[in-house]
Amino acid sequence: MDFTIQNVLVPVEHGYQTVDVQIAGNHIAAIAPSLEVVGTAIAGDHKLLLPGFINAHTHSSEMWQRGLIRPVPLELWLAELYDFAPLEPEQVYLSALGTAVETLLSGGTSVVDHLSLIPGRELETIAAAVRAYQEVGIRAFIGPLIQDESLTVGLPSAGKATAHAPYPRSTAATLALMKEAIARFHQPDTGISILLAPTGIQLCSDALFTGCIELSHDHNLCLHSHLLETKAQQLLAQEKYGCSAVEHLQQLSYLGSRTSLAHCVWLNDSDMNILAKTQSTVVHNPLSNLRLGSGIAPILKYRSGGVNVAIGCDGAASNDSQDLREAIKLACKLQNNTQAAMN
Ligand SMILES: [Zn+2]
Repeated sequence: MDFTIQNVLVPVEHGYQTVDVQIAGNHIAAIAPSLEVVGTAIAGDHKLLLPGFINAHTHSSEMWQRGLIRPVPLELWLAELYDFAPLEPEQVYLSALGTAVETLLSGGTSVVDHLSLIPGRELETIAAAVRAYQEVGIRAFIGPLIQDESLTVGLPSAGKATAHAPYPRSTAATLALMKEAIARFHQPDTGISILLAPTGIQLCSDALFTGCIELSHDHNLCLHSHLLETKAQQLLAQEKYGCSAVEHLQQLSYLGSRTSLAHCVWLNDSDMNILAKTQSTVVHNPLSNLRLGSGIAPILKYRSGGVNVAIGCDGAASNDSQDLREAIKLACKLQNNTQAAMN
């Protein structure tokens, strides 16, 4: 459909300019003052034209636990999250639908959904989210949330020997599942892309990371994980690898321009330099980090250190909304804290 938006404001340096915007089919054909009207004319008076924002990290199915979990630290919060009964695929469809709508209404045109999978019904889960995103027409990057270690492995042991239950799905079975998901659902031309998204160093083996890297190369896919959301994860990395989580991921060749990493609250200077050098992206989730008391990521410092930064809402259970403008606003205001900038 062709249309022309007339007299809309666009931000320019130190102010605004009034322009017209010609849309031809699916593309912006021109943005300039006083354009000829093509197709339908739409009045843009007193409206601001902004680029489509990207919600670079969320978990759509957490909409069902929105506002329900107390604001406790991540490790305790996760235990409460795991206590909820698994969803039905229809519920996954509805929460993806809600996430898509709330993202669009707050200026987002793309969503990165680190999607929790229903045990034993993983492909149905992904299909339900795909259906929702296609119905709404939002661009979605779906990263099925995978791990191959049980929840208790994700805590530092402080030198105590602890027995952990094995994770119910093997690493090989998880990678086979991802292969199937890619074959069935990865269709960037229709707005749906699959990401390889091992949840993070706290719950994933090296074999799982390596398998995801291979699949990423074979199918030209992006990688997405949580990274150093809490101080406990920083301690765990030292226990597990004898070096920082970032150093370990670099040794595995997990980092690169196609890799985005949610949180990164607890990077040291060397970690920051590695992320800059490898052109990895930090996804800042300010509301979630405040709600769970994880800390304030020093984003200005990362930016001046050359790290690419995106902004996300994180799931509604750690944010209480999916309002992307709220996250962007808070991200900007939080960095006015001089101490956070100088950390
Ligand atoms: Zn998350």
